[in-house]
Amino acid sequence: MGTLNADVAVVGAGTAGLNARREVEKRGGRAVLVESGPYGTTCARVGCMPAKLLIAAAEAAHALEHAPLFGVHPGDRRIDGRAVMKRVRRERDRFAGAVVEETEAIPAGQRLRGRARFVGPTALAVDGRVRTYGELPGRRPQDMAEAPGA
Ligand SMILES: Cc1cc2nc3c(=O)[nH]c(=O)nc-3n(C[C@H](O)[C@H](O)[C@H](O)COP(=O)(O)OP(=O)(O)OC[C@H]3O[C@@H](n4cnc5c(N)ncnc54)[C@H](O)[C@@H]3O)c2cc1C
Repeated sequence: MGTLNADVAVVGAGTAGLNARREVEKRGGRAVLVESGPYGTTCARVGCMPAKLLIAAAEAAHALEHAPLFGVHPGDRRIDGRAVMKRVRRERDRFAGAVVEETEAIPAGQRLRGRARFVGPTALAVDGRVRTYGELPGRRPQDMAEAPGA
């Protein structure tokens, strides 16, 4: 069972976690990021990003439907669902891929895979391996947590 000391343990490499980690770094702290699921964030993989791409396709279809009101007649409308989804997935993969790359660029010693569970006020267990944080001399976890904007 290994231990790892850090000023702040960030649980979850989602949008919030990645931003929190950046803020800790900006303030000269050492963060450890723990993620149990796939990298890429909910937003980019299955949330905001693919939803917005689908909405964009629906808006394009809607504009075509209403074009005759403006004297614009685009001809027979045809919605190719497979093409819509292909584009959604391609763009989603591009965006999520960039987030995965950014996350994987974090040094291995500051990035743990596994499920985090509190085992004490300043200690987390990650899949049974205890990792501590907030134990560095002169630093308390709340110093970082209370930093403005963190
Ligand atoms: C379909 C859909 C559409 C959306 N559209 C929008 C939108 O248009 N605009 C908008 O603002 N928001 C939107 N959202 C919401 C947005 O995606 C979320 O608010 C955002 O992703 C939350 O980010 P997060 O960092 O808190 O969580 P996440 O990105 O979900 O990250 C949390 C991470 O923590 C990990 N985790 C959790 N517990 C542990 C643990 N104990 N140990 C280790 N890892 C753990 C999880 O595996 C996960 O990867 C949408 C969501 C969905 C589902």
